[in-house]
Amino acid sequence: MEVCVLASGSKGNCIYVSGGGTSLLVDAGLSSRETVVRLNEAGVAPESIAAVVFTHDHIDHYRGIGVFSRRFPVRLFANEGTAAGIEQDLHMRDPAWEIFETSSSFEIGGLNVEAFSVTHDASDPVGFVFDDGSARLCVVTDLGQATPLVRVKLGQCHAAVLESNHDTDMLMQSARAWPLKTRIAGRSGHLSNDDAAALMKSALSEHLHTLFLAHLSEECNTPALAFNTMRQALREAGREDVRVEVTSQTQVGERFVF
Ligand SMILES: [Zn+2]
Ligand SMILES: [Zn+2]
Repeated sequence: MEVCVLASGSKGNCIYVSGGGTSLLVDAGLSSRETVVRLNEAGVAPESIAAVVFTHDHIDHYRGIGVFSRRFPVRLFANEGTAAGIEQDLHMRDPAWEIFETSSSFEIGGLNVEAFSVTHDASDPVGFVFDDGSARLCVVTDLGQATPLVRVKLGQCHAAVLESNHDTDMLMQSARAWPLKTRIAGRSGHLSNDDAAALMKSALSEHLHTLFLAHLSEECNTPALAFNTMRQALREAGREDVRVEVTSQTQVGERFVF
């Protein structure tokens, strides 16, 4: 299995996942042009992407798909709510959606994909578990709350891309309007660094070896704060062996093979 976070944050999300002979993108929130640039930078031919699977219908997760899917014949996977939301906004011409049910698993080539529900203010937001028969990867960003279901899914995986959105003090001291602050910090918003750390502490399994922190707020977080909060939690749990990497909005991440 391979994972490479091409971009993560409120300006655009796109993650390359490959396993079992199948390569796909989780979300297409960069412009098509930028997606191609970053795939090339990662050493991945855009033509090799078989599918795009969508987590939810927020623009930072689907912005580029109209143009990208016209240029490259990818299969498009989403649940009904997400597909409807994206289509309504982008007016895509005959998008051949392959609709999955939330809380179900399906195959895309040699990859098994499981979609599980998360709490977030979108139509029907999900996280994913990818399984190529020997390794499992969990991708879960844009969630307001660490539910028991999310804990179970994280606990099944060897590697995870997990949201660590904001530092609560920085958010509360920011110039943002109060309703926006409460939305971000609320049950349908985004996980804080502390939320992500507490979630990981309670979801740690012996399988987990690598953790990518994702969807960091540019205004209300720093890579060091997110990293140190998670590191501290793992140290307290006696799991300093777990590797922690912070993903970026502007830089292509490492192409990680496990
Ligand atoms: Zn987002
Ligand atoms: Zn979102």
